[in-house]
Amino acid sequence: MPALQFDIEAICPVTGARAGTLHTPHGAIPTPVFMPVGTQATVKGLTQRQLAEDLDARIILGNTYHLYLRPGHESIDRMGGLHRFMNWDRALLTDSGGYQAFSLSQLTKVTDDGVLFSSHLNGDRHLFTPESTVDTQLALGSDICMVLDECLPYPTSHEHARVSMERTLKWAERSLDRFRARMEETPRRQARSEPMPQALFPIVQGSMYGDLRGECARRLVELDAEGYAIGGLSVGEPRALSMEMTEASVPHLPVARPRYVMGVGTPEELPEYVARGVDMMDCVMPSRNARNGCLFTSRGKLIVKHARYKEDARPVDESCGCFTCAHYSRAYLRHLFMAGEILYSTLATLHNLARYLDIMRGIRQAIVLGTFPRFLDSVRSQPVEEPS
Ligand SMILES: [Zn+2]
Repeated sequence: MPALQFDIEAICPVTGARAGTLHTPHGAIPTPVFMPVGTQATVKGLTQRQLAEDLDARIILGNTYHLYLRPGHESIDRMGGLHRFMNWDRALLTDSGGYQAFSLSQLTKVTDDGVLFSSHLNGDRHLFTPESTVDTQLALGSDICMVLDECLPYPTSHEHARVSMERTLKWAERSLDRFRARMEETPRRQARSEPMPQALFPIVQGSMYGDLRGECARRLVELDAEGYAIGGLSVGEPRALSMEMTEASVPHLPVARPRYVMGVGTPEELPEYVARGVDMMDCVMPSRNARNGCLFTSRGKLIVKHARYKEDARPVDESCGCFTCAHYSRAYLRHLFMAGEILYSTLATLHNLARYLDIMRGIRQAIVLGTFPRFLDSVRSQPVEEPS
């Protein structure tokens, strides 16, 4: 029996956008879905209760690189796994840690074996291999694990991108071999009463070359995984190119399996990815921008420090139903931000994530009702900046 069951309930006949449900051992997830990022086993500024009860987030991300270095995946394993450790009984997805090994570490060496890097915490040397990152994620107990892939900076030559893509393909195969071997083992621990079946997604790479993206996707599909991701986007390329690379990848992926674009996007990009057949996305943008004073509203971005909000009694977004908008004014949020108060981060993150999850619910409903093309048109005509 597959660890993930994915049911598609509606497909937009014009765009191909899909509405479905992803069934994981830790609950059902309506798709398309945006997954809040909980880098260090926490979505910064929020409690798990806020995530579940206020936002109804069904799945969040954890970062393997960070958890491997601190507190250590073995320690989390001994504490009963990541779900129990962080008191989150809904679904968890973890990345392989490769992206952070490339982006956070000063000294990174990539060979066919894996990624050799030095910890950004203390400089210690570590090696991530396709097999070790699977083992690490199994120790964490994530519902959806990701294979180790090579993330290239932008721009990169076609020649280099091909060599790297071949390596990513080999790593994906090795990762799935390891994963399947581990899944056949008898249950290893009594400490966990939680369900254990898990899934591993390979990742389409190929830099910004459509031919490589297509080839990578086709060859990954031969591995018959339970879902597929598109990685290596949002690395500094123009936004139109990220969309183009998604379009070059998606048509080669199986219709019946979930598709996940990693590390995207802005509020106005979410429906664009869905329109290209994407079911899952994640990004630090809503939470990070919230902390930096940028709030997303149905009328565009609101920069909270602007003097014009000093005595503005309106909520951040009059059409938002989140806890922050129900109880607090722009003036109060601006005051907290200017004073450097911790509560600002909590209230702002709560709102921005509510905005993202509301957009996804709106997208899903439009697909189910058959009005997604009209939804897309209206999003495309909306301003990006909040009018003053
Ligand atoms: Zn709100």
